[in-house]
Amino acid sequence: MEPQITQINSTDPDVVGTNFPLFDEMALRGHEQIVHFSDESVGLKAIVAIHSTILGPALGGARMWPYASEAEALQDVLRLSRGMTYKAAVTGLNLGGGKAVIIGDPKTDKSEALFRTFGRFVESLGGRYITAEDVGININDMEYVRMETRHATGISRAMGGSGDPSPITAQGVLYGIKACVNEMYGKDSLKGMRVMIQGLGHVGIALSELLASEKAELIVTDLDMNKAEKIASRYNGKAIQPDEVFKVEGDIYSPSALGGTINNDSLSNFGYKIIAGSANNQLADEVIHGEALKKMGILYAPDYVINAGGLINVWNELSGYNEKKALKEVRNIYDTLKKIFAIAKKEDVPTYLASNRLAERRITQLSKLSHIHIPHQV
Ligand code: NAD
Repeated sequence: MEPQITQINSTDPDVVGTNFPLFDEMALRGHEQIVHFSDESVGLKAIVAIHSTILGPALGGARMWPYASEAEALQDVLRLSRGMTYKAAVTGLNLGGGKAVIIGDPKTDKSEALFRTFGRFVESLGGRYITAEDVGININDMEYVRMETRHATGISRAMGGSGDPSPITAQGVLYGIKACVNEMYGKDSLKGMRVMIQGLGHVGIALSELLASEKAELIVTDLDMNKAEKIASRYNGKAIQPDEVFKVEGDIYSPSALGGTINNDSLSNFGYKIIAGSANNQLADEVIHGEALKKMGILYAPDYVINAGGLINVWNELSGYNEKKALKEVRNIYDTLKKIFAIAKKEDVPTYLASNRLAERRITQLSKLSHIHIPHQV
């Protein structure tokens, strides 16, 4: 998966840890807790941000990345942890939002000792934060973490975990695409719909297979054109070069690689009616491009809603993983998106904003309850 790192200009007065007081920054975004962990003997520098535990324990992946500065790492963990609160809330899970960043190069700085030490730090939070994989961290790393804490998810099926989340994420994207087609064309059938899949990685390949079995027409691309040609010929689709995505037309654009592809350039010649894909942070600027899509009459399935299959998968791991149950819950992505589209229409707002509102309403309503069910840990 590609990293989506906030670029920080160190002369920017708003940069956390420079001129902007940390408590003000926490208050601005509503963070509950930020914890810094350090153990020089194993080279571990980690930050855990707990944005909200109103709906349940704060769950979110740990990302390992060679951040240029501590301020950049802090900014990233604050932004990502808040996003997890919204994702869990809108998906209907009893989970809050959190995230961890480990400052280091995943290619050179990994060790068993580092991940086990990180696991002990997570354990010290007593279940307020539950960790998982993210950019730079794989299942093997997470298994070291799991040796030291019960509060780690995304481990292999062999160890009783939920394994690779990509097939379930792809299944969720398929339900999301159907919700969009239903909204725009009043039907659920994808037969003959031209779907552009940008990126044929773990999710993109699984999605190609699902869409082909629905008799959709595939247009595919990847940086690795051999892969694109292979998938195109397997499903009788068409392979195009990566730089041709916004030169062709289709019904649905399904970003499955990078974030930020909905931007001024792509929207200047946009040939699709629906945007529904797995990539994180698809809108280069949520407000500007979210509004632009509304004005252009393009239906956008908010990324953190349609790609929630992976989160649903690890949520299920907390109470003893059952694939059938996880797959059933992923179907809810269809209904959630239909609800969001209805709010967007009624309140005359872009779909990204309707989604944020739906999440905030659930948090506000449930914050009044004194007891929320928190699942037992594995
Ligand atoms: P991946 O790394 O397995 O695959 C990404 C693919 O995109 C690679 O094959 C790569 O060659 C290709 N690619 C990169 N840049 C490209 C470009 N400019 N044009 C065309 N192809 C390009 O990633 P993944 O696990 O399949 O995830 C895809 C996206 O979905 C990512 O944005 C990820 O953050 C998001 N996501 C994934 C999951 C999951 O369960 N895997 C869950 C939620 C969100």
